[in-house]
Amino acid sequence: MTLNPLANPKGVKLVCELCQKPAFIQCTDCRVTYYCGVEHQRADWLGIHEKICQLLIPLRTATPFIASEEDRQKRRFQILEKQRQMIDLTRTTGQKLLFESKHEEAVPAAMQSLRFAIDVHGIASIELVPSYLILGEASIGLDRLNQAEQYLAQAQWTVLKTPECSNAIRSKLYRNLGLLYAAKGDFSEALRSLADDIWYASNEFGSDDIRTSGGYFHMANVFLRKEDMETADSLYKRVLDIWYDHLLKIVKMRTKTPIAPKGVGLVVAEINQEPDIGLDEAQEAEAKKVLNLIQEVYGQNNEVTKATLIKVTHALAMLYFVLRDGIKAVEFKNVAIRTCQDFPEDDPVAKDISSFDRFLTNASGI
Ligand SMILES: [Zn+2]
Ligand SMILES: [Zn+2]
Repeated sequence: MTLNPLANPKGVKLVCELCQKPAFIQCTDCRVTYYCGVEHQRADWLGIHEKICQLLIPLRTATPFIASEEDRQKRRFQILEKQRQMIDLTRTTGQKLLFESKHEEAVPAAMQSLRFAIDVHGIASIELVPSYLILGEASIGLDRLNQAEQYLAQAQWTVLKTPECSNAIRSKLYRNLGLLYAAKGDFSEALRSLADDIWYASNEFGSDDIRTSGGYFHMANVFLRKEDMETADSLYKRVLDIWYDHLLKIVKMRTKTPIAPKGVGLVVAEINQEPDIGLDEAQEAEAKKVLNLIQEVYGQNNEVTKATLIKVTHALAMLYFVLRDGIKAVEFKNVAIRTCQDFPEDDPVAKDISSFDRFLTNASGI
């Protein structure tokens, strides 16, 4: 990250990437991004610019003169494709930072995603809603509830005007409204919104999908704050079951050794029929946050059974294996094994963890 004072900004209206005020410095790596000062350049760099600096160059440099209409159309299409990729990248980054509780850092990424979404879809589109929601959630995290309310009102208004709005977006809207009510201490409204979230998410993804589990998780947190431990526990257990099954699927997929075809010279194309169930960066951060918190809550609760404790530790071991953090994977696996020492060998919990243990020992690259 280097600075380049703008020699002569006169005549050209250059504005800061973050606050839209007049800009005085430029990013020297891409030369297409400007800032009011070092502070905003640093914030943008940490939040998102480091990831997109070079990607912005083709999007922000003037179109070269192109003679044929066909080539112009081709270029427009390429630019649109790049902008769509930028929406995905900036949103995933913003969402990941939120799961890591880096609310301030999530704002630049969310602002970028909003800007690209406006470029591609226009100012009134439903496609802008996920960006408003990231901005809203960041504001809730920063305890700027009025600002959060404004972003969520914008999102809600857009959803109301768009009858064809997908269940996925509706679920995200209600999840955020749930977080806002919970932050205000209005638990009954929070639970109502989260129930709507779960309903829409279940319709879109199924009730046992990791994308639905976030609603149960936030509900559990509300019941925990209400000191209704029994309900909180049963909801955390549901979240744990969903993540455990999902991680187990990924681990099993990675351990599957392809069967070598018999016969010399026979070429068999291995077709992978399994859908891609890997985790994106935001889901990785979500899994870390959710499973660590559940383990912490269970650690303070004497009524939790050993089997449940082993399950959450085993889930964490699988998660760190999936994240290619071998040291942590082994650490959690060892804790799980210690916890089930007095379990009979044929107990399903003990069986699961010992087969994971065997796998970890055999796995190369860990
Ligand atoms: Zn600024
Ligand atoms: Zn740059």
